[in-house]
This record gives sequence, structure tokens and C-alpha cells, in this order.
Amino acid sequence: MPELPEVETTKTSLLPLLQQRVQAVNVLNASLRWPIPNDLEKLVGQRLTQLKRRSKYILAEFEQDHMLWHLGMSGSFRLCEPNEALRKHDHLVIDFEDLQLRYHDPRRFGCILWLDQQNQSKLIDTLGPEPLSEDFNAAYLHEKLSKKNVGIKIALMDNHVVVGVGNIYATESLFNIGVHPAQPASTLSKAQVEKLVIEVKRILKQAIDLGGSTLRDYSNAMGENGYFQQTLLAYGRAGEMCVNCETTLENMKLGQRASVFCPQCQPLKLKKA
Ligand SMILES: [Zn+2]
Repeated sequence: MPELPEVETTKTSLLPLLQQRVQAVNVLNASLRWPIPNDLEKLVGQRLTQLKRRSKYILAEFEQDHMLWHLGMSGSFRLCEPNEALRKHDHLVIDFEDLQLRYHDPRRFGCILWLDQQNQSKLIDTLGPEPLSEDFNAAYLHEKLSKKNVGIKIALMDNHVVVGVGNIYATESLFNIGVHPAQPASTLSKAQVEKLVIEVKRILKQAIDLGGSTLRDYSNAMGENGYFQQTLLAYGRAGEMCVNCETTLENMKLGQRASVFCPQCQPLKLKKA
């Protein structure tokens, strides 16, 4: 599934389209998570003026109309030459002045929707802060976690606490600070929360720098693969040896998700430190 770093990478790779005017729009298959609006023709003649990211959404601002794009489970945008052959699962083609933007999505959980001029939508209005912003800091997180009795990993992956910390990033950052994924969120000490915030930011920045990569076949809009996956220490490594202490890494299910941890380096402490 494309995670925040992939979406950031995708947004960056679409920047060549800025200030270009839409020449034509062609919807090949409108049935995504919600139908692609049937009045996309409105975009023709409009310049793309801004590309932003909020959580895992891309906000595409055209001169008159704004759009909200999401990659769902398997979506990707690709920039190509107009004469390039279409691929199976290419659902939307937007012609710009000298490049074509194609939306590809085998599982069709993504979305292409209109957004109002204030960029308000029930899909993004109630989301927590961006992990790389100053609003996501130790004081904020400590306060937020103090009211939560769920495991820290589940709290960290809750979009109302902070957006964009998927399973990979939660697993890796908890491993790196030595906190058990099931430790009740409210029992983390201030010092642990401080380390956690630093670690979440570090690992997301690293993933963005390396081009993202959660899906093995993930590629950004230019078709380049990410290298982040090769740097993982815990995620996907259950049964292998911990790089710190050589204990066998274990896997437990938390909120239906695999959670890999080292029983030695990440002991479960149920009481406040
Ligand atoms: Zn260990």
C-alpha cells in the first residue's frame, strides 16, 4: 500500500506539470472507490497551479477547480509521452501541454474527487497533524497518548493522533527506541515520547529521501523504484535475528496487523515508567 513517503515522492514527481494547461481529459474506467466525477472536462483549459500533500492525499489545485487524489491500495500516477501505449488498469488520462498524466490502479481503491476552493473535505478535515510538521512534537504526543489505553503501536497508527505513520514506520520506530508495540500508550514516559517523535520523523524523512517503498513493485511517477525497504531492521523480519542482541524477532497481531518486535530489546512494561 502506498504510504506517506510514496505519496510525497509521487507529489514531487508530478511537479513538472505545474503551470501547464490541461488539453484533454479521458476517463477510461470511472469506477474507483467512488466514481470519478463525470464533469472532469471542466479541467480543460485550466492550469495546474499547486500540488500539495495532506496525509496520504494529493491536493491538486487548478486555476478554478481543486481536486483530491488518493492512491488507495495499489494506485500510481505516471507521467508519459502521449504516444506511449496504455497499460491495463490505466483508468484516467489527463493531457497537459507536453506530458500525459495517467492514473493506474489494479485494485481500484483509489479516488479522484473534486475538492472545494478552501480544500475542505470530510476525508481530511478531522485528521491529526502531519508527522514532519512542528505540530507533531513531544508535548503534543504525550498529552494525546495520556488518554489512550490501547497499545502504543495502534495509537501511533491512528490518523487522529498523527497522520501517515503506517505499519512499517510504527514497527521500525518502536524497535529503534526499544518500546514494545503493545505497551499501553498512556504508560510511555516523557523521555520515551521524545525519542519516539524524533525517530518517527527520522524514519519518514529517510524513506522520503530513498523514494519510499512499501510495495515491492512500487514505483513513482517516473517509474523509479524506492530503496527504503532494504534498510528495515524489524518490519517483515519475524523469525530472523535481532541486529542488536541476536534474539529471534517475534510477531504478534495488533489491531489485525502484523507487529514484529524483539522480546529482549522491547520488553513489555504495563506500568508507567
Ligand atoms: Zn534485540
